[in-house]
Amino acid sequence: MTSAPVTPAHPPARGDVAPGSTSSLRGANQRRVLAVLQAAAGAEALSQAALARETGLAPATVSNIVRDLAAAELVETTVGAGRRGTTVRIARSAGLVAGIDIGHRHARVVVGDLTGEVLAHDRRPLGAAHPSEEGLDLVAAMLEGLVADLGRETDPGPLRSIGFGLPAPIARTSDGREVVMESAILPGWVGLDARQAAQERFATPVHVENDANLGALAEHTRGAGVGHGTMAFVKVSSGIGSGLIIGGEPFRGSLGTAGEIGHLTLDEQGPMCRCGSRGCLEAYASVGSIETLLAERLPEATFDEVVAAAADGNVVAARVFEDAGLHLGWGLAMLANLVNPSAIVVGGDLARAGDLVLDWVRVGLRRHALASVAQDTVVCASTLGDRASAIGALALAVRTVELIPAGGIG
Ligand SMILES: [Zn+2]
Repeated sequence: MTSAPVTPAHPPARGDVAPGSTSSLRGANQRRVLAVLQAAAGAEALSQAALARETGLAPATVSNIVRDLAAAELVETTVGAGRRGTTVRIARSAGLVAGIDIGHRHARVVVGDLTGEVLAHDRRPLGAAHPSEEGLDLVAAMLEGLVADLGRETDPGPLRSIGFGLPAPIARTSDGREVVMESAILPGWVGLDARQAAQERFATPVHVENDANLGALAEHTRGAGVGHGTMAFVKVSSGIGSGLIIGGEPFRGSLGTAGEIGHLTLDEQGPMCRCGSRGCLEAYASVGSIETLLAERLPEATFDEVVAAAADGNVVAARVFEDAGLHLGWGLAMLANLVNPSAIVVGGDLARAGDLVLDWVRVGLRRHALASVAQDTVVCASTLGDRASAIGALALAVRTVELIPAGGIG
């Protein structure tokens, strides 16, 4: 069971601001203005009238918000001579955000600007059994190196926010902790308030999130899920987890652990799962279960070699992907019947098998979901590949930039 007592938090887990208060309304309005400017980044600067139109806010409100954001050095304004009046854009030196993804065998760090554009990235190997301090040391060194490199040419401004992904359920508590729950993948982190530990290390605001939830955010904002307001991302690597976007927003559940589909029971008498139960989805369709199945027939083959063998017509390799795909489709049918997403994006290592496995996922989904649901659910591979969680962590950092410090301007 879990090693830390947790109580549900009320989303969006900004415990310092009461919902409905003047400051929370101001914060929400600031975020709306910033989101429109982020979406317009790369195009010409927007007039304040256009910002009012796009956000639905009164021109006077927009004017006040722009003044606050400019004082916080997040936006820059240009006083126009013509009828457009003052125009606004994200400031060139508005600062940086970072996304960190700790995986089963690696650590990845990306640094981007406030629009979520990736400016620099790094990836290093990291053993699964490492203690959390070792992981934090590694990503801190990687982040420091990337920021220093970026600072050599221009002044990019301060590092404002970090999104931090871990392959484990993350519980957000009512007192602001973000605790790593039970995880067979990353035992050295279980029970840790990862948010506090990371904030102490980086001296920057941090938000921690499960890697599959971050993959969903990444695919929704920049990948195969763009345009799908209700979608699921399923990460199939050594384990299986999913992240949900509902009505355009990440859905976390009451504790923050929604989407843990890897341990749906498909057969009570089935093979043992590492969670201690039998016949879980993960025991049939994870990359780990595929490697176990092939241990005798293709003992030396890497996962990519198994994919190549299946593509070349090796019947054993092809059959393993067929079975894994059918089981995955069965599990996804339950998810589709419950949530009715318009797209299910499959990511993680398994996605490298492409249609060799996804064709069977579609068959499994059709077999077990309601006919109308199966017909309307697109199943596709991630377009962000193994960068999905890190890019999602960057997107989380963009969404959680502290706009105006508490007690600051105003
Ligand atoms: Zn299990």
